Amino acid sequence: MLNRRKFLQYTAFTSAMLSVKNSAAAALLPTKSTLVANLPVVISTWDFGIAANQAAWKILSIGGRALDAVEQGVWVPEADVKNQTVGYGGLPDRDGRVTLDACIMDEFGNCGSVAALEHIMHPISVARKVMENTPHVMLAGDGALQFALENGFKKINLLTPEAEKAWKEWLVTAKYSPVMNIENKSYGKAAPQRLPGNQYNHDTIGMLALDAKGNLSGACTTSGMAYKLHGRIGDSPIIGAGLFVDNEIGGATSTGVGEEVIRNVGSFLVVELMRQGYPPEEACKEAVMRIIKKKPQTAKEIQVGFLALNKKGEYGAYAIQKGFSFAVCNQQKQDILIPGKSYY
Ligand code: ASP
Repeated sequence: MLNRRKFLQYTAFTSAMLSVKNSAAAALLPTKSTLVANLPVVISTWDFGIAANQAAWKILSIGGRALDAVEQGVWVPEADVKNQTVGYGGLPDRDGRVTLDACIMDEFGNCGSVAALEHIMHPISVARKVMENTPHVMLAGDGALQFALENGFKKINLLTPEAEKAWKEWLVTAKYSPVMNIENKSYGKAAPQRLPGNQYNHDTIGMLALDAKGNLSGACTTSGMAYKLHGRIGDSPIIGAGLFVDNEIGGATSTGVGEEVIRNVGSFLVVELMRQGYPPEEACKEAVMRIIKKKPQTAKEIQVGFLALNKKGEYGAYAIQKGFSFAVCNQQKQDILIPGKSYY
């Protein structure tokens, strides 16, 4: 027998189905691409998500809260000196400054964010403190740094010798102007093969977790687009763009050229599509299609990928370009990397 809640969910789903009947969207509901994991589960963008998921799993597997899992999970790439797109070791902006963007969201719809934060190893934890200890959602630049230092975070130099060398090599040919999607292009000896999705082109970590109690949280953290203009903020710290979580429905996160994600409020869109009944992969695909439809020429040159997890533990991803992958960790499939489907 259906209880009231299930009945309401069921009728909401069937009326959503009816409302999209005869439309293109009807063909998307539901499909074989649905991947289901039992609780708890954690998923993350890119192959560095494997190590991050393992850290998150330590918390989830003992009944811990998804919020703690995502925070501690993304600490791994944030602290990884070899990872040139997240946290410490990240490539700097055009002026040689490493500026970090991060946000976090819990099962109650609380959220916190920092943008263009310098000198702090774990921006995600500063974002969590903004969420929990202030009446605000977002702090940026010097104010975010001041808040971090007042809350006991240590000031460090985030620019490693390797990242500095890569920046100086870039300066030689780049004529001091930022290039869209530079991460995907060859430049300098420090990172000779930056093709979409290869080992040098790992971008933001976006992580979504569903804990044993069935609660969702998400985290997103990055050093942003390499050699961006100083002060540029991407999608990653923007709630609804780089990350969105609705504990009734699911969560979504993004990676790639943040400007296109912001223009389409990408992660919010994915969650709202899931609310209408789209399975996670199809919701991600539809969000990607919006980007392609609005700017077909730009889309040929850039990468954007979305990753989504719904309340039932179903997950999926979709990207513009080949090469996007995501990591999944749960009881059955611990630590697997799944190639994301793509338009091109
Ligand atoms: N989305 C990030 C940004 O635009 C970077 C990335 O994932 O490549 O800042």
